[in-house]
Amino acid sequence: MERRFHCTACGKCCYGWLPLTLDDALAHAGRFPLAMILSTVRQGAKAYEITARLGTTVTIGRRKRVAVRAAPTAYIPPSFSCPALASDGRCAIHRDKPVRCRTMPFSAYQEERDQDKLLVPRKGWECDTSPEAPAVYRDKGVIDRQDFDRERRVLTEQASILGAYTNGLMANAPNVAAAVTRAAGKKGGGHVILKFTTILSRIEQADVAGFCEKQLPVLKNFAGRSAENPQVEEYHQFYRDAAAAMERFLQRC
Ligand code: SF4
Ligand code: SF4
Repeated sequence: MERRFHCTACGKCCYGWLPLTLDDALAHAGRFPLAMILSTVRQGAKAYEITARLGTTVTIGRRKRVAVRAAPTAYIPPSFSCPALASDGRCAIHRDKPVRCRTMPFSAYQEERDQDKLLVPRKGWECDTSPEAPAVYRDKGVIDRQDFDRERRVLTEQASILGAYTNGLMANAPNVAAAVTRAAGKKGGGHVILKFTTILSRIEQADVAGFCEKQLPVLKNFAGRSAENPQVEEYHQFYRDAAAAMERFLQRC
C-alpha cells in the first residue's frame, strides 16, 4: 500500500498546541508560550507501547497501568495561529523551525506502522494527496525518513529526563497525581497542563535565568492577547499564573 502527500505550505495546521523537544522549547523561549503537558494512554491502545517507551508508565489505583507522555509544548489556543506563521501563510522561521514541524505530516510520537492516519488532511487543510503528489509512505514505512528518524532519536534521548520528571511529580505532587488519575479515566486519554517552571530544575544545561527573561514577556503578551475573550479564558488564566510563577522563580535564581 502506498500513500501520497505534498505540503502546499497553506499554514492551516499551524494553529493550537505544538509539541516541542526540550531543546526546541529552550531555543524558542522568546517565541512560544510554554507549558508541560502530560498525556495519558490506556493499556491496550495502539499508542500505549510507544508512549511508554518515550515517557513512562504509572499505576492508577490498584492495578491499572497507564502510559504517560510529558511533552514541552507551545501552549496556544486552537483559534490562535503560531507566532511564527507569516501573513502569507508560510513559516517565518523555516530554517529554524521545531523538529515537530519538520516531521509533519508524520509524527515520531506514533508507531511507524500507524502513520497512515496522519496523512488524511483535516477539514480545511490544503494538503495535496492527489495521484500527482509524491509517494511518502509505503507498506507501513516512511519513505523519506530523515526527519522522522531525527524526531524519534531526539524523543528517545530525552525520554529519561521526561520520564523521571513525570515519576517525580507522581510521587511528590499529589495534585498532579490526582489530575493524571482523572485524565486516565477519560475515554481516549486526557491531558494535564503544567507550568514550564516545573521542569526547569531538571534541565542541567539550561541558562535558567536567561530562559525566564525570554519567556516571561511571551507569557505576558499571550495573557494580553487572550484577555476578555471567554473562549480562551482557560489559556488566559494559565498565562497569568505561569508568568507569576516565573517571576517568583526568577527572584529565587
Ligand atoms: S514554527 Fe512554522 S511550521 Fe511550525 S507551527 Fe509555527 S509557523 Fe507552522
Ligand atoms: S495543512 Fe497540510 S498543506 Fe497546509 S501547511 Fe499543514 S501540512 Fe502543509
